[in-house]
Amino acid sequence: MQPLIIGGGLAGCAAAIDLARAGLRPCLIERNPDPHDKICGEFLSGEAVAALVGLGVAPLALGAVPITRVELWAGRRQAAARLPFPALSLSRRVLDAALVAKAASSVAEFHHGVTALHIGGGRVRTPGGDLRAAAIMLASGKHDVRGQPRPPGPDQIGLKQYFAAPRLHRELAGTVRVVFFDGGYAGLQPVEGGRLNLCLIADGPLYRDLGGWPALLALLLREPGLAALGEGEALLARPLAIARVPYGHLARPAGDGLWRLGDQAAVIPSFCGDGMGIALTSGRLAAELLAAGAGADRFQAELLARTRRPVGLAMAALRLARFPLGRLAALAGLAAIPGALGLLARLTRVADPNALAPAA
Ligand SMILES: Cc1cc2nc3c(=O)[nH]c(=O)nc-3n(C[C@H](O)[C@H](O)[C@H](O)COP(=O)(O)OP(=O)(O)OC[C@H]3O[C@@H](n4cnc5c(N)ncnc54)[C@H](O)[C@@H]3O)c2cc1C
Repeated sequence: MQPLIIGGGLAGCAAAIDLARAGLRPCLIERNPDPHDKICGEFLSGEAVAALVGLGVAPLALGAVPITRVELWAGRRQAAARLPFPALSLSRRVLDAALVAKAASSVAEFHHGVTALHIGGGRVRTPGGDLRAAAIMLASGKHDVRGQPRPPGPDQIGLKQYFAAPRLHRELAGTVRVVFFDGGYAGLQPVEGGRLNLCLIADGPLYRDLGGWPALLALLLREPGLAALGEGEALLARPLAIARVPYGHLARPAGDGLWRLGDQAAVIPSFCGDGMGIALTSGRLAAELLAAGAGADRFQAELLARTRRPVGLAMAALRLARFPLGRLAALAGLAAIPGALGLLARLTRVADPNALAPAA
């Protein structure tokens, strides 16, 4: 029986391409008919870039912009470092379209516009009837499928808007800037097409008290690291939004035979810019292990071994950054200790498989 993949995003397409290469003829269902803008800071870290190239998708050829530097800001305080790995920035619309095209040309069946309504008992319910498969891979990203809920995330909202801001765009060439503020954090970086991507997480109560996006943006523009965006022009009719992302979630072997990939397996805080690396790595690992005859529990244990450290470390950094004194002290430390910020960036990447003992 063909493996069945639910979700044609990064993890699902990565698994599909590698399963097809291994001769396993996967079937993939994706609820959206076409790739579209997605909530994402669009920072592609080193291992994400390497995974894409391994899958036959070359981000630079798609117009990706090199990112070599990271800046952290809290008020006027800053720490900056060269990234310890080559990173890129590319819009999800372009990246997802390229991956979907690659997967569609590789797999036996790619059904666009088909939604999984419920998963349970080795069966996937869709509007067209039930699907069965020997191996079902759940790669539905941020969206939970009925029957397979993840724990609810904190009361926070994620928002993304593109800006045309030529002066700031020049200033940020090659740089990702992360700005921590009271009640959240924002990432700002250039993407292809001369645009800047502003992507942020804000506490739900703050967002609601302010009354929505215009007032939140006005608050953000008071941050020294973001003020120059005020000269810019917003490019999307309205920002994209998502609520209650379950940061810190780590799927464990569940004994139910379901392979959980990407955000369904591990959700790292967004400021790390490694969710895409985890998604691609999980898809490739799942394909490799299924082709080798392994089961879902072995896969989940190995993925957990690779994601536990970066997710745990990022969650600890996030807890510290919530307190004004904590983030000022952390930034002072990162600015004063040579190599500290680069090391933090490296340790929050999905772990190098060669550096880990096999999981039990
Ligand atoms: C605010 C924010 C900023 C971020 N910034 C970054 C960043 O800068 N760098 C980074 O690496 N990561 C970032 N991330 C994380 C990153 O976006 C995700 O980790 C990554 O997209 C997960 O990939 P995935 O394949 O699991 O899911 P996705 O890429 O979201 O794909 C899931 C797919 O499943 C489909 N689907 C959903 N439900 C169903 C269903 N029921 N039936 C069929 N199909 C379905 C969806 O349509 C979608 O195409 C950010 C996340 C947030 C919230």
